[in-house]
Amino acid sequence: MTAPDESVVHGSKAQDKAAPKDLPALDRLLRDCAPLVVEHGHTLVAAEGRALLDALRTRALAGQLPLAEVATLPAALAARVAARLQPSMRAVVNLTGTVIHTNLGRALLADAALQQVLALMGSPNNLEFDLATGSRGDRDELIEGLLCELTGAEAATVVNNNAAAVLLGIAALARGKEAIVSRGELVEIGGAFRMPDVMAAAGATLVEVGTTNRTHPRDYEQAITPRTGLVVKVHTSNYQVQGFTASVDEATLAPIAHRAGLPLMTDLGSGALVDLSKWGLPPEPLPQAMLKAGCDVVTFSGDKLLGGPQAGLIVGSREAVGRIRKFPMKRALRLSKLPFAALEATLRLYLRPERLVQDLPTLRLLTRPAEQIAALARQLLPEVAAAVSPRFAVEAVALQSQIGSGSLPVERLPSAGLALTAADGRGRTLEALATALRELPRPVIGRIQDDRLLLDLRCLEEPTLLTSQLGVLKEALA
Ligand SMILES: *Cc1c(COP(=O)(O)O)cnc(C)c1O
Repeated sequence: MTAPDESVVHGSKAQDKAAPKDLPALDRLLRDCAPLVVEHGHTLVAAEGRALLDALRTRALAGQLPLAEVATLPAALAARVAARLQPSMRAVVNLTGTVIHTNLGRALLADAALQQVLALMGSPNNLEFDLATGSRGDRDELIEGLLCELTGAEAATVVNNNAAAVLLGIAALARGKEAIVSRGELVEIGGAFRMPDVMAAAGATLVEVGTTNRTHPRDYEQAITPRTGLVVKVHTSNYQVQGFTASVDEATLAPIAHRAGLPLMTDLGSGALVDLSKWGLPPEPLPQAMLKAGCDVVTFSGDKLLGGPQAGLIVGSREAVGRIRKFPMKRALRLSKLPFAALEATLRLYLRPERLVQDLPTLRLLTRPAEQIAALARQLLPEVAAAVSPRFAVEAVALQSQIGSGSLPVERLPSAGLALTAADGRGRTLEALATALRELPRPVIGRIQDDRLLLDLRCLEEPTLLTSQLGVLKEALA
């Protein structure tokens, strides 16, 4: 027998606790985990093994490590290695009711776009190679014709996102000069993208005209001087000014700018390539209409209503887009091949407008009939109720979805879902439920409103994503 140790001093309760000497050396642990080392290599497994043993040693020194845990070391190490290899970026289930949710990655890619990314990203491709001549090509050429066809533009280019498109457009057309914007359109989009700051970053001097609620044609006319380089319109995508208001639309503003020899640029934010009112959705300005109205440059996002990857689309006159393309900042903001492939495939879907509502997930989700969503809510109700009872009560309710991403901010889409309330009526219990949902293998994200956790089912096209996890949820709540 060994000499009396601490476990004896502390009495029988400590007998089943491990001492530091009960822990194996790292070498022995790695030998016991030979298949794991073969699979993942020495570096990662050894690093995780060392961290695991350090943590257990600390607990053993504190007399808090059950001896039984020592026997499960190989399994614990395998779990740690697996956890380290799991990406932090994961698929979640969006039951927030916001279809284009910026925090949840915005638009879902269409199958065609996914296929194209998969087919091209592991292979060399003709991103900047002209297959007809065998010489260097320009990535813009792969997409410019299509964008011009869809919007009626003379020229088009794409950059990393719409914020980059706006920055680049202003820099290329108004650097060292003045750019005129209505006070009613000095928007903040979030993530520190504020029009006055963008102007400054682009090297243009902002000239504000009009007032918050009213701006008139003469306000623009009076602000134009020899120092002016550009007139800018910004779609107030994430708010609405109501009441005693006046603004100058593009069709009125274009001749004013052009008479002074100035280009007119409009930032649509989301924009939409098709008239959404065809599907009963609130209308969003179309780039094609803005070009017809006389805009020289129109910018819009790739991953909002367009339903594609993150990208900034710039369409307009040959002259203005040419200046933008030649501006040195363009190279720093260019679109990478990965979203490029997805964007081209997404845009090609617009050649078949009749099929768009099936092909484009964003449009499919936005146009999903409320009655269909309500039927799904009624169908899922018993299963969900069984998983969360008795701590929570569940009912099927009518809800209001949002389009999201600043598109059509005040419009709501009739939707449906499940409302969960805590039997004890406490907000903290509801928070615990929200946490349990976020901790599921595929995290489920709902929203808490008026002491209810709401699961809007508009974006749940595959109910099994929820139902297959209800067993885990039940256990977590037990
Ligand atoms: C969303 C938005 C932007 C930024 O677009 P990103 O693609 O997110 O960079 C710029 N302007 C307006 C008006 C917007 O709504």
